Amino acid sequence: MRIAMLGTGYVGLVSGTCFSEFGTDVVCVDKDEAKIEGLRNGVIPIFEPGLETLVKKNAAAGRLSFSLDLAEAARDADAIFIAVGTPPGPQDGQADLSYVYQAAREIAAVLDGYKVIITKSTVPVGTGREVERIIREARPDADFDVVSNPEFLREGAAINDFMRPDRVVIGAESKRAQDVMAELYRPLYLIETPIIFTKLETSELIKYAGNAFLATKISFINQMADLCEKVGADVHQVAKGIGLDGRIGRKFLHAGPGYGGSCFPKDTQALAYTARANGAPVSLVEDVISYNAARKRGMADKVIAHCGGTVAGKKVAVLGLTFKPNTDDMRDSPSLDIIPILQAQGATVSAYDPEGMEEAKKLLSDVTYCTGAYQAMEGADVLVIVTEWNEFRRLDMDRVKSLLSAPLIVDLRNIYSPAEMAEDGFEYLSIGRPLSA
Ligand code: NAD
Repeated sequence: MRIAMLGTGYVGLVSGTCFSEFGTDVVCVDKDEAKIEGLRNGVIPIFEPGLETLVKKNAAAGRLSFSLDLAEAARDADAIFIAVGTPPGPQDGQADLSYVYQAAREIAAVLDGYKVIITKSTVPVGTGREVERIIREARPDADFDVVSNPEFLREGAAINDFMRPDRVVIGAESKRAQDVMAELYRPLYLIETPIIFTKLETSELIKYAGNAFLATKISFINQMADLCEKVGADVHQVAKGIGLDGRIGRKFLHAGPGYGGSCFPKDTQALAYTARANGAPVSLVEDVISYNAARKRGMADKVIAHCGGTVAGKKVAVLGLTFKPNTDDMRDSPSLDIIPILQAQGATVSAYDPEGMEEAKKLLSDVTYCTGAYQAMEGADVLVIVTEWNEFRRLDMDRVKSLLSAPLIVDLRNIYSPAEMAEDGFEYLSIGRPLSA
């Protein structure tokens, strides 16, 4: 089999590389010349554990290549994936589909012989039909099917998620397209991955419903954490106590500063927009969206309160900038809400993140970016842990205390024990846990 992957970002590069690892011939196409040039020379444009090795291995084996030329990549391809961005549009949370529709027009121009065109990008219900219409209008003669195949991988664990998914969802309505998709995903039959075939609209909605459900679950435990703080309960034990109920499940019950990243914020908003536009508003999801936005900002208030009500003239050390560990992705990270508020209140900020600082520099100004966690803490009045990178989990607390000018810690990821922190002489504030727990 041979495929072209249009869009070589977090999803396109990982999916294309993993398909090539399964033995498929893959050409990854992008408009970004520097990205393609770099990839041809083995330079991976994103941080994703394990990706570099897999790209180099499959490129060397001749199954994976990189191109700026869609026509060449599409020639002899059985399928063309669209994996371009679908960022939030300018208003009302509506997804910006201009990249997807542009990709559809470009694909229309190069079609030769039967092809399956697959939206792997997260796209609102109705987008697949519109892609079909655009291509049909441009090429009434063309022989093709449009399929929806949303991607569920998580950054930081993307390769494993792609190779061992909980399920694969395929919105394909012709037998011919279903057969091509079944053949592409055949390697996953060996590990008995459930593959769900649906119509286009259902597949498109599954992706949004899944992300909205997970965002709701996170927000639910975050609200329980708020309540725990008021009543002296421990949100970790609440999460465990409810999560062991098989109907609820233990995952996504970790209280924190609010969800971020390139998917949940924009996808919940796009779902809410679609639902409003279709006269079936999803009020639960609307509440989740506003609660989460307020929560991220509220984390700055937590820091200010812990500093005695003001951060004016104080130095805040921030550990972790990305929205989660093991990625360099800064999109909608809580740090982007928290740091500017602290700065507006008169704080200076020194920060360290193992992989996110290059991206952070484009988004956060007047921050002193440090070469390590301990450097960020030098002379700081408070330490704030925003992202739970492994290297922050076992800090040398004697050293931390000697570097900070006051023993104040705000841990927005609950990676330390309140009791141990108190024993070590810190004034330690975490999320949803009593100080003595
Ligand atoms: P990204 O911004 O990292 O990558 C998109 C790439 O597409 C860019 O390299 C861009 O240059 C390229 N591109 C745009 N238009 C093009 C065109 N016409 N031809 C060739 N290349 C083009 O985006 P991403 O994070 O990979 O997300 C892609 C899609 O996958 C989005 O819809 C997103 O919601 C969805 N998704 C993302 C994740 C994730 O964790 N990042 C997970 C699941 C689904």
